[in-house]
Amino acid sequence: MELRCEGCAGCCVDWRPLDPDAAGSDRAGERPPLDDAYDLVPLTRDEVAAFLDDGLGDILVPRLFEPAERDLSVSIDGVEVAAARDRPVFVLGLRKPPKPVAPIGTEESRWLDACVFLDPTTLQCRIYDDDRYPRTCATYPGHNLELGVETECERVEDAGGGDRLLDDESPPDLPPPAFGPQALGATIFAYPNPDDLDGVVDRIRADALTADDRARFVGAAVGSRPGSLSVDRDRMAEARARARDADSWAGRAVREWTDRAGADGDCVDLDAESRDRLVSELEDDAGAPGTPGWD
Ligand code: SF4
Ligand code: SF4
Repeated sequence: MELRCEGCAGCCVDWRPLDPDAAGSDRAGERPPLDDAYDLVPLTRDEVAAFLDDGLGDILVPRLFEPAERDLSVSIDGVEVAAARDRPVFVLGLRKPPKPVAPIGTEESRWLDACVFLDPTTLQCRIYDDDRYPRTCATYPGHNLELGVETECERVEDAGGGDRLLDDESPPDLPPPAFGPQALGATIFAYPNPDDLDGVVDRIRADALTADDRARFVGAAVGSRPGSLSVDRDRMAEARARARDADSWAGRAVREWTDRAGADGDCVDLDAESRDRLVSELEDDAGAPGTPGWD
């Protein structure tokens, strides 16, 4: 597998406004998500716990799913969601605020939803090669290649974003996929008290989850046991409280970008120098790890 990622960030940015026909959709498949985030990165329980330990519990966001035909389901806000027994199943990913970025080989910065860890200036990942770099990102697009599923890199190529997938041999040491029978309690979690979730589905659909909503799911994920539906209530409560109290540079940057953003896909009304200064102010100076640039 050999990739040319410089100037791309196709798997870190929601670039549907740039080319809706070429971009993919997380809404395809048997269990469409209730939210509209693009390329959400599913995290393992250990990754979630490690972000929480680093004070980054405010960068995590849950995803619930519509049930497939044969699935069990539970009703929340009058909407059926996929469930294991009577517990709604969910994954946790990284939040994607609007940022001023010029991905997939474009020149002009636009307001596009982008991973909380993407440096808008260099289009590099701020936690690349760090202990916290998610397994999903480190192995992308290995599972797609192994399964013969279209990659984001090829979609970027189709959108005229340059040659990206230079060698399509899947790596030999791929970990198990994020979804599958082994994933329960490891990357797919079950929320133990569905009655607590009144209003959550409406807020997921409106992209209006509160810090308390997100913290509930972080708690349930950290309290989960791999391979089982059981949740340790003490661990859940403690993790939920820590996630709710988190106040990281990244969580603050999400709020700042969201307050400043123009409409989805709109050009950024700043010259390159001012844009870079704003990125420094909201991210680098606020504590974000730097990126080296491509030279
Ligand atoms: S963690 Fe890094 S590589 Fe993964 S989606 Fe976010 S910016 Fe991209
Ligand atoms: S879409 Fe492919 S080429 Fe583009 S940044 Fe992601 S992995 Fe690299």
